[in-house]
Amino acid sequence: MPRALVTGGAGFLGSHLCDRLLAEGFEVIAMDNLITGNTDNIVHLLDNPRFRFVRYDVTEYLYIDGPIDYVFHLASPASPVDFPTKPIQIMKVNALGTHKALGLARAKNAVFFLASTSEVYGDPLVHPQSEEYWGNVNPVGIRGVYDESKRFAEALTMAYHRYHGVPVRIVRIFNTYGPRMRLDDGRVVPNFVGQALRGDPITVYGDGKQTRSFCYCSDLIEGFWRLALSDLTGPINIGNPTERTILEFAQLIKQLTNSKSEIVFEPLKTPDDPKQRRPDITKARTLLGWEPKVGLEEGLQYTIAYFAKKLGLS
Ligand code: NAD
Ligand code: UDP
Repeated sequence: MPRALVTGGAGFLGSHLCDRLLAEGFEVIAMDNLITGNTDNIVHLLDNPRFRFVRYDVTEYLYIDGPIDYVFHLASPASPVDFPTKPIQIMKVNALGTHKALGLARAKNAVFFLASTSEVYGDPLVHPQSEEYWGNVNPVGIRGVYDESKRFAEALTMAYHRYHGVPVRIVRIFNTYGPRMRLDDGRVVPNFVGQALRGDPITVYGDGKQTRSFCYCSDLIEGFWRLALSDLTGPINIGNPTERTILEFAQLIKQLTNSKSEIVFEPLKTPDDPKQRRPDITKARTLLGWEPKVGLEEGLQYTIAYFAKKLGLS
């Protein structure tokens, strides 16, 4: 039976990955210090004899008994609201944590899988973003702690690959949403859906003309799975190329929730908030035969239903 370690396994994406790996017959160890994750996301797995949860900080020395075939390194706070409040933890988990996870993969002869991000492209000057673009990142800006530490994580991953021969897979994840995001996560989907469902003002930061392209979580996990099984090092973009302005997105959520909330404008929370973002997924399409299947409205309906239940509205 293949055995995987998932760091950040109690988080939004990590828990969905654990579900998928268990469904594929893996034994799974989820490791998480719960800084932004929650055991609610994995409570349904705790009785599964092929699943184990370890509460641990991956920046510390990692020891796992027995063989490991895959190390999926997803641990890292990911919401921009965490950038000013957890800057050192973010840099540590992406630098020291990636180092520990790579060391473990090397010791176990495992495949190392890095959850990188579209944030490595920064506030991009090239649109859409292909993997060849090197990015436009402000190292000393508020977002720098996340962007630069993910760039470091990619560089360290490639160093282990080139110098030690560790087989690696690097995925650059574009904005992904779905059930198990925290309502108070601070990212745009939980914010807007929570505000719309409660009838609170929907807070558009800046003029709302900035764009994002939103991928539903099941599509992303399918991309992870295909990349993990492939022999591609990457980096490879996984995301949904359907692009919307944030204002259009607020209007869509208001409409889908039948909300009476008003849309209000607030100052940008981070000055280098990317103005546009859309993945070029040519590589994922041609090399992995992957493309997203769940449309924005459909994925939002699932997500709205999840948050409505959390808020006790259904
Ligand atoms: P999340 O906050 O739900 O999950 C991250 C998990 O990592 C949390 O459970 C957290 O407690 C855990 N963690 C953080 N630091 C840790 C540490 N030192 N030791 C152990 N566990 C630690 O966020 P997510 O959206 O599920 O993101 C998962 C990964 O995907 C992150 O690496 C993130 O950078 C990346 N990513 C996500 C998106 C997205 O749109 N969701 C986009 C780009 C990249
Ligand atoms: N945003 C917004 N209102 C909110 C939360 C976010 O207008 O309540 C904007 C944010 O400024 C950014 C976009 O939505 O332009 C996506 O933000 P998110 O925090 O989800 O992630 P990012 O893509 O910036 O990492």
